Amino acid sequence: MAEQNKKKTAIVTGASRGIGRAIALELAERGVTVVINYNGSEERAREVQKEIEEKGGQAAVMQWNVADYKACEEAVKTISKEYGSIDILVNNAGITKDGLLMGMSEADFDSVIDVNLKGTFNMMRFVSRQMLRQRSGRIVSMASVVGIAGNAGQANYAASKAGVIGLTKTAARELASRGITVNAVAPGFIETEMTAVLPENVKETSAAQIPLGYFGKPEDVAKAVAFLTSEDARYITGQVIQVDGGMVI
Ligand code: NAP
Repeated sequence: MAEQNKKKTAIVTGASRGIGRAIALELAERGVTVVINYNGSEERAREVQKEIEEKGGQAAVMQWNVADYKACEEAVKTISKEYGSIDILVNNAGITKDGLLMGMSEADFDSVIDVNLKGTFNMMRFVSRQMLRQRSGRIVSMASVVGIAGNAGQANYAASKAGVIGLTKTAARELASRGITVNAVAPGFIETEMTAVLPENVKETSAAQIPLGYFGKPEDVAKAVAFLTSEDARYITGQVIQVDGGMVI
């Protein structure tokens, strides 16, 4: 596997912690040079870089806000120049601002859409230009089972993740003829800081809905993402792979 991925470059957005961190580590282990993006957590991003380098991998750290169209354009330009190619894009950065529909503020709706959906569009928009020139590439975006089934209290988040699925299927159709695959991964309940803040009763209710009976780990998602970016997945595009312990069957 490491041999196949030699000298490939990946951008992983929101890789300073949680699922993004696990993806960065997994890709680096497979011989990919990883650009670790973060928005605010510089120290955490540097720790991920250090962890990769200590294991003999290669990584760089770069700050930008994925919701900022111009910042994404600049970042992609810089990375293309530095590495010559961008082989893998993982759109992982995401936020939640939960609340019932009736009481949801415009700001909470807009910010979740801006980071989760527009951020994914921004990155796809600029990276696909580079991948089209290369006539190859792998794009994997983080959706959620909530984008498939909906979830009370997450109108903004569910809409953003359903949007990511639509964007994925469209980009898959547009980019297939140039050898670029575009897929999404839809995690269920994964143990990260995003879910750590949920009240105990919500966690208990969620666990009861999972046929496998336990929450997933960031590494469970990272393995699926790594597979989709590998040569083994060359004939898979436009798909949404659920990593959810059977939560939404
Ligand atoms: P997390 O622990 O809260 O980490 C979120 C990451 O996104 C951080 O690295 C954060 O960086 C980054 N980020 C946030 N806003 C950003 C922005 N505007 N620009 C660039 N980076 C930004 O979340 P997680 O649980 O690992 O989730 C990762 C992805 O999986 C998200 O898309 C989430 O929606 C999705 N997901 C998670 C679960 C779950 O159960 N955990 C389930 C389904 C889907 P900074 O710290 O630097 O801001």
